[in-house]
Amino acid sequence: MPSVSPRADLESLPKYVPGRTIEGAIKLASNEVPGGALPSVAQAIAEAAAGINRYPDTGSQALRERLARDLDVPVERVAIGCGSVSLCQQTIQAVCAPGEEVIFGWRSFEAYPIVTQVANAVSVKVPITEGQELDLDAMLAAITDQTRVVFVCNPNNPTGTAIRRAELERFIDAVPEHVLIVLDEAYKEFVTDPEVPDGVEYTRTRSNVMVLRTFSKAYGLAGLRVGYAVAPEPIADALRQVYVAFSVNMLAQVAALASLDAADELLARCQEIVAERGRVRDALLEAGYRVPETQANFVWLPLGDQAVPFAEHALDRKLVVRPFAGDGVRVTIGTREENDLFLAAAREFSSRTA
Ligand SMILES: *Cc1c(COP(=O)(O)O)cnc(C)c1O
Repeated sequence: MPSVSPRADLESLPKYVPGRTIEGAIKLASNEVPGGALPSVAQAIAEAAAGINRYPDTGSQALRERLARDLDVPVERVAIGCGSVSLCQQTIQAVCAPGEEVIFGWRSFEAYPIVTQVANAVSVKVPITEGQELDLDAMLAAITDQTRVVFVCNPNNPTGTAIRRAELERFIDAVPEHVLIVLDEAYKEFVTDPEVPDGVEYTRTRSNVMVLRTFSKAYGLAGLRVGYAVAPEPIADALRQVYVAFSVNMLAQVAALASLDAADELLARCQEIVAERGRVRDALLEAGYRVPETQANFVWLPLGDQAVPFAEHALDRKLVVRPFAGDGVRVTIGTREENDLFLAAAREFSSRTA
């Protein structure tokens, strides 16, 4: 009798590498925000915890309605997911037949090739430019009649670079209507360049654009897993069809609502990160590093084969950063003190290797 075995192709599935958590070390590896839960959010979670013997609302109706109101879109166009990474996977499951193609930049968010393969679709990776930006012209040229989805991560993880309005609009206009453009805006709240557009605007006028957002980054709920999509209505319906029932838990729903109530306070925290981002980038440039302009809560050091040695050097100083071997290192902006420790380590590395 043959024994049970997993799908043969899973052997080649890339692994999602989470930022490491090391006791006593400072973690600048997962693009989390440093501030803990606000008292109002912690209280909402504590109150909801009394009801966890009950299943959550599988439709996340209250949260959907609140987001629809805040974003001024019909509730039918909003879908909630167990983190926006789940919505990435749901999107491919909802749109692609086996063997159809999904285009994204490389490097971009490391979950894209994983969720694509898990959903039996095919990844088409388009190299980023020398300037570490998504190459929209090359992504456009990669579209075939097999293409169903294009992910545009804006700002891009891990490079931090952002696509401006004129360039994005030219791209959207040129993409054929049978291709769904997914604007992944996980870092939207950190964007300060007024030329970087709000993707939700395009969902009002285009039938093939959707936006993904998350509560994990600016809203500080990475541990609870909740994100959302604003999509054309048929796509939003399909996202709900492939949703794993009850996967957005009750505490996540309640915390997301409480965080929207506290948005002013949470977004003010993001401005502190933005100020630190500028300071950290300037200091790195001064120390001789190449650092593309970033609109997210992290900086990218395209160090090539020095990426892993740099990360090891940082780890020796109890700083966990995120290397992508052969390409570069992504460093999350932390508190001022954390950033100073990181900068000291970076200066030391550059003087040692200079
Ligand atoms: C962090 C991140 C997400 C999603 O995170 P969730 O925690 O799953 O909501 C999505 N896209 C990008 C580009 C990210 O960096």
